[in-house]
Amino acid sequence: MTTMTTSTKQLEFTRKARPLHWVGDGFPVRPIISPQDPPQDTSPFLLLDYAEPFHFDPAETPRGVGEHPHRGFETVTIAYQGQIDHRDSAGNAGTIGPGDVQWMTAASGVVHEELHGAEFTRSGGNFEMIQLWVNLPASHKMEPPRYQELAKEQIPIVDLPGRAGTLRVVAGQVFGASGPAQTVTPINLWDIDLKAGGQTKLELPDNGSNTLLLVLSGQVQINGGDKAGQGELARFQQEGTTIALQAPEAAKLLLLNGAPIDEPVVAHGPFVMNDRAQISQAIRDYQNGQMGRLAS
Ligand code: MN
Repeated sequence: MTTMTTSTKQLEFTRKARPLHWVGDGFPVRPIISPQDPPQDTSPFLLLDYAEPFHFDPAETPRGVGEHPHRGFETVTIAYQGQIDHRDSAGNAGTIGPGDVQWMTAASGVVHEELHGAEFTRSGGNFEMIQLWVNLPASHKMEPPRYQELAKEQIPIVDLPGRAGTLRVVAGQVFGASGPAQTVTPINLWDIDLKAGGQTKLELPDNGSNTLLLVLSGQVQINGGDKAGQGELARFQQEGTTIALQAPEAAKLLLLNGAPIDEPVVAHGPFVMNDRAQISQAIRDYQNGQMGRLAS
């Protein structure tokens, strides 16, 4: 009993997503984590935007965000509904659809565009996605860019014990399954679907990591206590390893866990570095074309 109590990872707080705003004309998002939040609360996660299900009418021209740079971190896009095209100055391009994940390591810098896929643009329909920014340690910020496209088929789905639901391992390890994402620092990123009445216990690493849980839909009771509802983010204490979740109604959750990067964070728009001089350098390098250009 004592062991059980001391290993529980206690809920620290829950907070609601911020109001909807548009990123370009394609991504109606509610910010959940933003670079203005205290970095120690969410490190290594810098930004989390949730595009809740939104209906787009058919169109001729793809909506989205045109050419823009990034340096110093990774952008991770999870598609739930709809289709997203990515194209960058490192020569990488791809289209992701429901269940696919794109893990783009900007590192020293890329210029990219993020648009709705051609097929989705023509057909219209419901669109739902997550974009997450993952910080890189100072020692990796100026490495060459990298692009990982993680197709739905590559992402293991675990059946939770007791038929409580399913868990997709995008990154990290749980229940003996490993996610396909190659990460620079230790990260767990899991998509969790709990059935109504489902309950599960999740084991997280005992390494002082930060753990966050976002409720995409439904409601979840945490460690037998407080509930978190749709659009709420829960943050857990670093101590402890076990989280107990119970879903009074069917719930869709995203769990983020990562070892904090204990370095200064200076964020300026699409650049996240360690000091102001590096930000000024990033702006100059982008303007001088050193992050490349998109092929037309
Ligand atoms: Mn971008």
